[in-house]
Amino acid sequence: MIRLSAITPSGQVQLGNYLGAIRRWAAEGTAEDVYFISDLHAMTSAHNPARLRALTREQLAVLVAAGVAPESVCVQSDLVRELGALTWLLECTCSYGEAARMIQFKEKSEGRASVRLSLLTYPVLMSADILLQGTHEVPVGEDQLQHVELARVLARRFNGTYGEVFVVPRAVVAPTAARVRDLAEPSRKMAKSAPDAAGTVFLLDPPDLVRRKIMRAVTDDRGEVRYDPDGQPGVTNLLEILSACTGKEARELAGSLSDYASLKEATAEAVVAELKPVRERTLALLADPTELDRIRAAGAERARDRSTHRLESALRVSGLG
Ligand code: ATP
Ligand code: MG
Repeated sequence: MIRLSAITPSGQVQLGNYLGAIRRWAAEGTAEDVYFISDLHAMTSAHNPARLRALTREQLAVLVAAGVAPESVCVQSDLVRELGALTWLLECTCSYGEAARMIQFKEKSEGRASVRLSLLTYPVLMSADILLQGTHEVPVGEDQLQHVELARVLARRFNGTYGEVFVVPRAVVAPTAARVRDLAEPSRKMAKSAPDAAGTVFLLDPPDLVRRKIMRAVTDDRGEVRYDPDGQPGVTNLLEILSACTGKEARELAGSLSDYASLKEATAEAVVAELKPVRERTLALLADPTELDRIRAAGAERARDRSTHRLESALRVSGLG
């Protein structure tokens, strides 16, 4: 059974990426799965080449440092030729209307003077990511369901039109993945490409900076530590983070902490302790380019080896070559 997930190098890895995704990939993933750095997806809006390359490297190091099976890790653009070819076949399988109705495209393009064409077509590239690898399951958040549904539609349509080439993937919505909110603006989720980084804890932030960001987290003036997502979003977010780092129930933690200062101190120490080993291993890997390059090349080779036959079939049955 092959599962596939990705992280986009649109910014530095943040605490939510780690608690909500990467930590699970390390705990539940197998060498069969595919966990990749989607650097091609990071190009759907204005990007800086040097920064993209650096972030891609950093994210690769974080995944390996976090304990994701190195056999399952790769960088999307290392298969850019294969993915480019398959994306073309799938664009010739997808209608304009299907792409244009993607909610995320509407949201991300709204009000922008100039939108890259790739922002419209990126769900088709995502379908290529999924279908190229013969993926069975795609663990996603609600916001990505529509894109996985598109991959299913395109797989079925291609198979029905030209012959059985692709596995039809399933979307799996993870039941209780931690949702980390921004510390300064708890109304929105923490995100690596947030416009303002004050409320974002980055995985590679030095411990003192992590502590400072958490001690400055926005709370409220009720003065009571209670688990109340609607009424006390800031306090609840800290409880959730503390819970994700300690394995204790958020509601129980609320009962054991009497004031905001002790909640923040406990959370800061728990986060620092949780991130410490991953941060240290990441920095060590980044300082050893040869090892990181070796892991990257092996991942690309494995991903290519298990997918070229599928791409060859797809090209052949659709009348090419
Ligand atoms: P961007 O701002 O570019 O969208 P992001 O931080 O939302 O960045 P993604 O690359 O979109 O990160 O997502 C990578 C993985 O991290 C996904 O599995 C996503 O569900 C998870 N994730 C992202 N943000 C959070 C968060 N705040 N809490 C929990 N999980 C998160
Ligand atoms: Mg995101």
